[in-house]
Amino acid sequence: MREFLKTKGFKMTPQRELIFRSFFELDRHVSVDELYDKVRQQDNTIGYSTVWRNLKLICKVGLAEEVNLGDGVTRYDRVTQGPHGHLYCLQCKELVEFDVEPVLEFLTVAADEHKFAPDGIKIEIQGHCAKCRKANKKKARPVDQPAAKRLAEKRP
Ligand SMILES: [Zn+2]
Ligand SMILES: [Zn+2]
Repeated sequence: MREFLKTKGFKMTPQRELIFRSFFELDRHVSVDELYDKVRQQDNTIGYSTVWRNLKLICKVGLAEEVNLGDGVTRYDRVTQGPHGHLYCLQCKELVEFDVEPVLEFLTVAADEHKFAPDGIKIEIQGHCAKCRKANKKKARPVDQPAAKRLAEKRP
């Protein structure tokens, strides 16, 4: 990592090393707050803006990218594997990844048809996860049921 940063023109400092290491130890889709909490557990002299700046640096050198899901929280996704899709639960905010390999060819052809050179492909599905749907079903009062039934009928 130290050598990698050097080739990109950045120096690896102990603080930076801790922040980078913490980022790669965390789950995917890390928010600044989550990374900050983790870093502070090991060194509470590191400030929030330092963490934020280094997260931006991780993106700049191409090791992560920002994921914005419209909930006001920017998450940072490691770029360690090929393209993947996101399933985002609007209720519990859980983010699950899925394989997009089967549709990549279709998307590439679509871009080609428009003579378009894609820099990246983002596939995101928003909705409600199985856990939340199950919990909601239990909570649903009789008065809510007609709407739920209508929705259920729409599903294939
Ligand atoms: Zn992801
Ligand atoms: Zn959920």
